[in-house]
Amino acid sequence: SPAASEPELTDGFNLVIDALKLNGIETIYGVPGIPITDLGRLAQGRGMRVVSFRHEQNAGNAAAIAGYLTKKPGVCLTVSAPGFLNGLTALANATTNCFPMILISGSSEREIVDLQQGDYEEMDQLAVAKPLCKAAFRVLHACDIGIGVARAIRAACSGRPGGVYLDLPAKLFSQVMDAAAGEKSLVKVIDPAPAQRPGEDAVRRALDVLKTAERPLIVLGKGAAYAQADEAVRALVEQSGIPYVPMSMAKGLLPDTHPLSAGAARSTALKDSDVVLLVGARLNWLLSHGKGKTWGAPGSKKFIQIDIEPKEMDSNVEIVAPVVGDIGSCVQALLDGMGKDWQQPPAAWLDTLKAKKEANVAKMEQKLRRNAAPMDFHGALGALKTVIKERPDAILVNEGANTLDLARGVIDMYQPRKRLDVGTWGVMGIGMGFAIAAAVETGKPVLAVEGDSAFGFSGMEVETICRYDLPVCIVVFNNNGIYRGTDTDPTGRDPGTTVFVKDSRYDRMMEAFGGVGVNVTTPDELKRAVDEAMDSGRPTLINAVIDPQAGSESGNIGSLNPQSQLKKK
Ligand code: ADP
Ligand code: MG
Repeated sequence: SPAASEPELTDGFNLVIDALKLNGIETIYGVPGIPITDLGRLAQGRGMRVVSFRHEQNAGNAAAIAGYLTKKPGVCLTVSAPGFLNGLTALANATTNCFPMILISGSSEREIVDLQQGDYEEMDQLAVAKPLCKAAFRVLHACDIGIGVARAIRAACSGRPGGVYLDLPAKLFSQVMDAAAGEKSLVKVIDPAPAQRPGEDAVRRALDVLKTAERPLIVLGKGAAYAQADEAVRALVEQSGIPYVPMSMAKGLLPDTHPLSAGAARSTALKDSDVVLLVGARLNWLLSHGKGKTWGAPGSKKFIQIDIEPKEMDSNVEIVAPVVGDIGSCVQALLDGMGKDWQQPPAAWLDTLKAKKEANVAKMEQKLRRNAAPMDFHGALGALKTVIKERPDAILVNEGANTLDLARGVIDMYQPRKRLDVGTWGVMGIGMGFAIAAAVETGKPVLAVEGDSAFGFSGMEVETICRYDLPVCIVVFNNNGIYRGTDTDPTGRDPGTTVFVKDSRYDRMMEAFGGVGVNVTTPDELKRAVDEAMDSGRPTLINAVIDPQAGSESGNIGSLNPQSQLKKK
């Protein structure tokens, strides 16, 4: 027949899918719409997992954390202008956090956009994205899709990981080309994140500084967790005998119950240490920029830093021994250089930290046993601490103010990359996106511990959780508002600016979509409800009633929230 003699064709839609699959990307997080509806549909038809969200920011957050968990870029797919902008927030956040992610957005035609003639959802998306991500590319011809996707993957994963924007104008998708030529145009990225070995002199310098320490400390950051060099990091701590403090998302890289964990003596460890080895942790606001009273007397500290990004060195204070390279290679080089006759740190230092730690833990235990109704944060978190202890392979997602700060301290983690939270920006709204991707990527049960305010930013995704029937248990710490549920309008007209509807029942949102909703008022009830959810694997939302008086404004970071001195006039 004549049809048989015609050359076989492919098109832009199929080439995008081919290019992703060729590079081992099997999941797309997104929101369908013009012009990418058929892309999602075809991707699903061709066996990819396509997870459709209710809002692009949540899909983008899902892609970002998928990148963190797997070291492969998570892909978020959106429509043009507004959908793109919604996804861009997540892309910027991924870049800030060093998570590999690719935002793919459909866009309108260059001819119209460039003459600003007012297309449907017109926007110069490439220009808008550029300053907010690590790299941005546009593909105009179907034969360049392979190269475009390859560049995006390499840019996202190599060196310091980050977010990449890939702009695909509508017309690209329906462009056809010869199928064999199309297949040839695809690129399988070889070694997307090449090992970067540190210089020998850098390693020697670092060890020389470390040897002089009387009160050494290791700070593990989420870069160390991301690197998946878990055995090497553990060996570094254990062979050096140096106590360590984990940053929030590095908790569990070694179990928080490890004898060398100084997490529960954090303030003392930071203040009194003399040499600090940073492993995949930046000296940003989360570490008080490496100075001030958190770090003790000025000039009392020497910093060694392992990071893949050379420009990170000296960004806040002097780094006396920069070790630039990937964490696996750098840590291994330090271990090799330490050798057999490595001197353990002085016992006095270890004893100081141990005593401090034991005192703090004992003080905390008291609070965690509070069994009041309504609950305070500690009572409720005491119950959740036990849950994670009993189910160490569950993934904990955590956002809020007090709900975040207190959970970070209370809930021990036992395995790497199990704690996912608000990260470098301290951003609210990551909750449901992170929870969904964690469940999709790992198949493990997810416990999302959410402040009522934080939950509101992504709460509509409970429908998504029910639709995909994911093993996600959400606990909303409901204290009637942002920070606390007690503000009032001084004029008496409206509710206070930080309060929500009193005694809301978030559990009923979950029931609306066929999931399980539970309302609890005591730690015992909370524990029982979470256990049931985790055993059943069913989508569950537990409304945990927290005393509106409990907690403090801005949680731990009230000092960053300016207060008017004039307001009492
Ligand atoms: P935390 O918030 O936990 O302190 P940060 O996000 O501030 O962690 O720091 C993570 C650091 O880890 C970043 O500076 C990043 O460049 C670095 N990093 C990420 N991946 C790697 C890797 N594979 N090897 C070395 N450094 C890495
Ligand atoms: Mg609240």
